[in-house]
Amino acid sequence: MDLSYILNELGEERENYFNAVSPPIIQTSNFTFKTVAHFREALSNEYDAMLYSRGNNPTLSILRKKLAALDGAEDALVFSSGVAAISVPIISLLKQGDHAVVVENPYSWTIKLFNNLLPKFGITCTYVNGTSVQNIEDAIQANTKLIYLESPNTFSYELQDLAAIAQIAKPRGIITMIDNSYCGPLYQQPIALGIDLVAQSATKYLGGHSDVVAGVVTGSKAMLSHIFDNEFMNIGPTLSPHSAWLLIRGLRTLPLRMQRGFETAKVVTAWLQQHPAVDKVIWPFNTDFPQAELAKKQMRGCGSMFSFTLKNASVQSIEAFCDKLQHILMAVSWGGHESLIIPAIAGVPVQAFDSDNPRHVLIRMYVGLEDADYLIKDLAQALA
Ligand SMILES: *Cc1c(COP(=O)(O)O)cnc(C)c1O
Repeated sequence: MDLSYILNELGEERENYFNAVSPPIIQTSNFTFKTVAHFREALSNEYDAMLYSRGNNPTLSILRKKLAALDGAEDALVFSSGVAAISVPIISLLKQGDHAVVVENPYSWTIKLFNNLLPKFGITCTYVNGTSVQNIEDAIQANTKLIYLESPNTFSYELQDLAAIAQIAKPRGIITMIDNSYCGPLYQQPIALGIDLVAQSATKYLGGHSDVVAGVVTGSKAMLSHIFDNEFMNIGPTLSPHSAWLLIRGLRTLPLRMQRGFETAKVVTAWLQQHPAVDKVIWPFNTDFPQAELAKKQMRGCGSMFSFTLKNASVQSIEAFCDKLQHILMAVSWGGHESLIIPAIAGVPVQAFDSDNPRHVLIRMYVGLEDADYLIKDLAQALA
């Protein structure tokens, strides 16, 4: 399917709403029926029916069709946050006594899901360094039901070989799931590589304007309808029609924004790399990135977020640099129009800071839609 068709037309039945170019926000909780027979049919199969907006809603349907097509998946479910798009499918697919192999250092709330929430239901996990496929294979147990990946992660950017891991999982009947927020559908297509479920925080690149919190998971109809009919409807992580509309609008410019961020990140990372105050820059499309070859093999492009370290990093030097920035904002999240910075030390109590801990000294920068020169000028004055 053409990308232009997906983003501009797919799912948009304009003749149903006055041929308006922009779809309506169908702000309704429920839908009516003319006959008991139609009512009965909808109640018996809510996955395919417009019955109640905790389940389906026409504005959400447009979005779901586009997101499924972007990932090359049969269907998509949308959620009120990225975390819900990760947690609800996992809660749905695992049961008491099951085990998951989980890549090291995933998103912070994914760690809390596996460490705090799932153990309450008797589900265990083993964290592995996913840069080696062998580590993942070695961690598989008789009760392993899920291999959970995040490639790359959004802080230290380690990758996993998705095709190789899918090949290990398939014959054993193990479900594979990835958090693909960093690359998004344009720069990485996990389903084509054999991964079963692709989750993303739509808050990031898909929304793209820092004004909506949402999530999506794509995969087979069989898997998604099971999740929908059970935990999705029971937990109720519904996205509002207004948020869905914002995401449809965000998608119109996704290719432009991704390309712009990718190009600007090339310029900014190259500039940082040669700066005398900078120690190293970690970005999957850097030639000296340890997994550069794998990055080029399975990613069509690179997200515009990277991390870097300062020479002689200390709490004082990192704080002084970040506090001096005039235009690059200090905030969590990423994927919007605005460039952002997070020093790892913001999340580490000052007494616990260890300059020999490679994760403590990282400064994460997300490149937004500003001009490269504008960002470099800000970085230059803060590094001076
Ligand atoms: C932000 C983020 C999430 C969580 O998404 P929310 O929309 O904030 O719930 C999950 N994974 C990654 C990689 C993220 O950056």
